Amino acid sequence: MKIETKELKDNKAVLRIQGTEAYFVNSLRRVMLSDLPKLAIDNVIIYDNTSPLFDEIIAHRLALVPVPTDLKLLSFKSECACKGAGCPSCTIRYTLSKEGQGTVLSGDLQPEDKTWAVKDGGIPIVELFKDQRIILEVEAILGRGRDHAKWQSVLAPGYKYYPIVDIDQKKCDQCQKCVEICPKDILEIKNNKLMVTDIEKCTTCKSCMEACESNAIIAHNDDHEFLFQFETDGSLTAKDALLETIAILGKKYEEFNNLIKDI
Ligand SMILES: [Zn+2]
Repeated sequence: MKIETKELKDNKAVLRIQGTEAYFVNSLRRVMLSDLPKLAIDNVIIYDNTSPLFDEIIAHRLALVPVPTDLKLLSFKSECACKGAGCPSCTIRYTLSKEGQGTVLSGDLQPEDKTWAVKDGGIPIVELFKDQRIILEVEAILGRGRDHAKWQSVLAPGYKYYPIVDIDQKKCDQCQKCVEICPKDILEIKNNKLMVTDIEKCTTCKSCMEACESNAIIAHNDDHEFLFQFETDGSLTAKDALLETIAILGKKYEEFNNLIKDI
């Protein structure tokens, strides 16, 4: 197997994975969606709420605010040494208190420790009018996407087979029909030659093949090569999300291997 990092940003990664099968790439995708832990607000104690929104709606909105997650410092509440009582290793607490006209933002959540300050402080929670106020306290704990979508840090992970467009220059009469029909606009005629400008944008829709009357183009896929991409909500960096996903998957294979040893 060979992996090439095509793009690696804080919240986004694109990888080219060669020499593998679809089931492996799909297992990465599924672990990212359902098994990768992240911190999310789970318990909301509302002391006062005279805003136009119900307590439940505010709690729901708070739960979806991405909270920075350092997996090295945290443990699951159910597995923590405090036996679920809630300690700094498993429960991160925030307070929020605001009064008077203005928008309550995610940045108004005050953490006990600045390490846990929300990264995106501009997410609107509720609009307050004159004389309205909101006072609350929240607890964020680790969870997994399979239990609730608020614990899903990776968004829309997906893959596609690596596209290949073979062009027979001898057959091509440069009629331009394929250039015009390509929805991704990745074909062009340069120096009297039909060329693909960015093969990775190709979705193998085969419109070019259908448009070509001289059968000069064959668009197909490499069954053992993939473009895998995902984004995170900011609670984990793309790099951390990928490394943790691989660690989880490795543990699963190891566990399976141990279970079948006695067969
Ligand atoms: Zn604890």
